[in-house]
Parts: sequence; structure tokens; C-alpha cells
Amino acid sequence: MIMKKNMEDLIIIGGGAAGLAAAVTAKRAAPSMRVTVLEKKDKPGRKLRATGNGRCNITNTALATAPTTIAFFESLGIPAREDSEGRVYPFSESAPRVADVFTEHLKALGVNLWTNAPVRGLLVEKGCFTVDVEKEQLFGKAVILATGGKAGPSYGCSGDGYALAKALGHNVTKTLPVLTGICCAEMPEALKGIRVKGKLSLNCRDQVVFSEQGEIQFTDYGISGICVFNLSRYLKYLGEEKLEPYTIYLDLAPERSFASMLFSWRQDSVLGGKTCTDVVSGMIKPPLAALLLKQASINEKRKLSELSESEIFMLDEHLHLLSFKPVSTMGFKMAQCTAGGIKANEVDEKTLASKIMPGLYFAGEILDYDGPCGGYNLDHAFNTGRRAAEAAAAAFLQGGHHV
Ligand SMILES: Cc1cc2nc3c(=O)[nH]c(=O)nc-3n(C[C@H](O)[C@H](O)[C@H](O)COP(=O)(O)OP(=O)(O)OC[C@H]3O[C@@H](n4cnc5c(N)ncnc54)[C@H](O)[C@@H]3O)c2cc1C
Repeated sequence: MIMKKNMEDLIIIGGGAAGLAAAVTAKRAAPSMRVTVLEKKDKPGRKLRATGNGRCNITNTALATAPTTIAFFESLGIPAREDSEGRVYPFSESAPRVADVFTEHLKALGVNLWTNAPVRGLLVEKGCFTVDVEKEQLFGKAVILATGGKAGPSYGCSGDGYALAKALGHNVTKTLPVLTGICCAEMPEALKGIRVKGKLSLNCRDQVVFSEQGEIQFTDYGISGICVFNLSRYLKYLGEEKLEPYTIYLDLAPERSFASMLFSWRQDSVLGGKTCTDVVSGMIKPPLAALLLKQASINEKRKLSELSESEIFMLDEHLHLLSFKPVSTMGFKMAQCTAGGIKANEVDEKTLASKIMPGLYFAGEILDYDGPCGGYNLDHAFNTGRRAAEAAAAAFLQGGHHV
């Protein structure tokens, strides 16, 4: 290896959740290691600052890695607490503060942080990594690629890391925007702004592929909310037919049936004389009542007493089976995460080291992983960042990498 003046022991490309966790961990494990973080934006952790609606949901107690993440945060001076659903937040509930604490640690530990430093090229030459940053070149004995995915390009993530990895021989699986709202066909304007609780299911070719209870928000484009975001992870574009095989069902009352109640109301002198619109609007939000009657093919002006037995059953069925046709997701611009990434079998599961290029590691969303809402994705970023850095530091302490 040729020794160059600006030779770093470890270059971390991307100063987001994974890159910041990697930098702190590397310097703690090997204080004499020269570590540089290259961040495209003017500040590190632009996306981290926006997470969890500004509260930063760092992990989830359902994850085996949660205690490690919580302990890591405590070691940074950030105690954490969980909510009733197992979501863990920093005690301060301040995402910007989390990013600032990382930055303060980088400075205190002696990590070299370059901001406004978009990496344009990465190659291996004469036994070391050559990193092209704008008009400059930096050389490194090891590299952690932590550039995130394509979700949320306004935070600096536009998939740059995939091209950098490909240039070193890696393959990238198909990437899709997930944890995002879903555009639906023929959404009635009147539904916009409505929020309902219910069970959302996704069917693909008559198979239930996802189901979750929660709050659904109707928007001008379709549906949103945490269970919709989680459902979006199961919408895989299927070639030319796109989302055609998928249907989303909303069960407004998963815990009960209304059939016997509707039958008794049908006999009631007052309720039986009401229109179906008035009856159903007393049960669910009025704009949804109109959609339900349309989907059940029941004229809204008909009186309840005029409905046949099968029509009553049809009404009850549609209270449990309102259907929506997804046509697309809201795309990477609005997505919180990227599905797909660096092919899993090309990366060592434990150390996150490339199996193709010695000295190269991956961390965070660039990997082929996506988790549901609730702290899974940040936990993955922090943990893969830490593990990659531990492995890089261990190799440094054992005499370095051989690129
Ligand atoms: C609005 C929003 C809220 C979210 N809330 C949560 C939450 O509460 N909990 C949770 O678990 N997950 C949440 N997520 C998902 C989570 O933020 C990501 O999964 C996580 O940040 C991924 O970490 P990362 O370090 O891999 O990538 P990022 O955090 O995206 O960081 C990648 C960094 O690399 C930089 N970069 C990219 N290309 C280059 C280049 N060529 N040169 C130099 N630098 C480059 C980027 O500027 C960026 O700073 C949220 C996402 C969004 C968009």
C-alpha cells in the first residue's frame, strides 16, 4: 500500500444515524484510529432530526437489540423511556438534540467531520480506497458505506451509495419506497381529512398478505397513518400489472357484527322508516356511509324497512369490508424507508463486512432491510453502524485491512 498524506484509517461515507453511530463506536474502540465522516449535507443527521415527528423513536422493546441500543444511548448521555406500545424515545423527546449529541461526541473523540462533502466516486487503487469528494480526493484503508437509501431525498438520501457499491462489485436488489401513504383509485373527495379506527388488510390474489389494527387517515390522494405505512411494505410492484392484484380492505368494527342490530332496527317503527343513509350515518362517519352504501349496491334513499335479509347481511358485510384499490405509493419523496438494497448474501451478517471487497463495510438503510414503524429502522441503523465500526476497529488494531 502506498502511504499518502491524507490517508485515513477509516472513512465513513454518510453522517446519518448509522454513520454517526459508527464514528463514535470506531473512535471509542480504537482511539488512535484516524476516522473521517463525509456528509453530503450542511449538517450531519438531517433525517435523524426529523424522525419520530421530532421525537426520535430510537428502538422498540420487541427487538432483541433494544437493550444494546438503549445502553449505547445512555453511554452518550441520552437516557431513554418506552411508551405503552414498546416504542423507545430519548427522555428529552428531542430528535435534533440526539443529532447534536452525536456531533458533540464526534468532536470530543477527535473524529474528522466534513460536511457539504458529497462523495461522487469510490474505487480501490494501489492498495487503498480512493474517495472522490467534489474536487478533492481522500484515501482510506477501510470504508463504511452509510449513505442511507432513497427515502426522503430532501434529507440527503438519493441512493448515491448504491452506485458507489456497484463500482466495487456489489449488487443491489430492487429498491421500493416503503412506510408511506398509498394512492387509491376513485377516492371520494368528501373522505379527505377523516380519521377512523379499524383493521386494515391487504389482499393479493385472494391471499391476506398483511393485516393490522390502528387509525387510518383519508387524504386527498388516498390513505395514510401508521398501519397504512406498515401495509405499504407489502405492496410489491409486480412488473407490468403493477398493483392490479392488490385490494385493501377496511374493517370498521373488527370486534363485532351489526347484523342482528340492523334486523331489529328494520322492525322498529322509527328506525325502519329512516333512509339507509341516515341509519348508516348514525353508525359511521357520514362520508364513509355514502361509500359503504355504494359498495354494497344499496340505494341510499331506500328505507331500512325495505331492505331484504340478504341486503341487511350485505350492509353488515361492508361495515367489515370497505374496499380500496391501491394504484401507487407516495414514492420515495414521502417515504420513511427504502425496501431493498445491497444484496444480503454479499455482506457478512455479523460484521457487516463486504464479502467482495476487503476493508469495505455497510451500515444502515443502504442494506437490504426495512422494518415497520416503531423504532425498527433507527435501531437497525444504529446497530449495524456500531457492528461495522467494531469490526473495522478490530481489524485496525490487528494491523489493518488488506485491500
Ligand atoms: C420523516 C421520517 C421519520 C422517521 N422516523 C423514524 C423513527 O422515529 N424511528 C425509526 O426507527 N425510523 C424512522 N425513520 C427511518 C430512519 O430515519 C432511517 O431508517 C434511518 O435514518 C436510516 O439511517 P441511515 O444512517 O442508514 O441513513 P440516513 O439517516 O438517511 O443517513 C444517510 C446520510 O448519508 C448522507 N449521504 C447520502 N449520500 C451521500 C454521499 N454521496 N456523500 C456523502 N454523504 C451522503 C445523507 O446526506 C445522510 O445524512 C424515519 C424516516 C423519515 C424520513
